[in-house]
Amino acid sequence: MSGHVHEFPDIKGLDETARKTIKKEWGEKGEKALAAIDSKQVKKYLDFFVVQGKTGEYVVDEDFCTCRDFVFRNRECWHLLAVRIAQATGTFEVVDRWYQDRWNDG
Ligand SMILES: [Zn+2]
Repeated sequence: MSGHVHEFPDIKGLDETARKTIKKEWGEKGEKALAAIDSKQVKKYLDFFVVQGKTGEYVVDEDFCTCRDFVFRNRECWHLLAVRIAQATGTFEVVDRWYQDRWNDG
């Protein structure tokens, strides 16, 4: 039932069909991911993908995310999903700098 990222559907662009597929596959999680993409909250820095959530920014690296859901509850969060979709469809914001630099900035 619960869609797993490894069964990612074949999505080429974020048209209506793709959106329906995503919502059917992942429900609320899919809607959150789409909303983030639509409001340009999925960003690709030189080193990492970063998803801006309500309470902060989360770094997504391959199958890992820095949010509480993922780290403490071992749950596949919508940030990971948003990055998958963004990668598959090319719908992410490109930021031409290293995300790590922001950590150093404090
Ligand atoms: Zn997350």
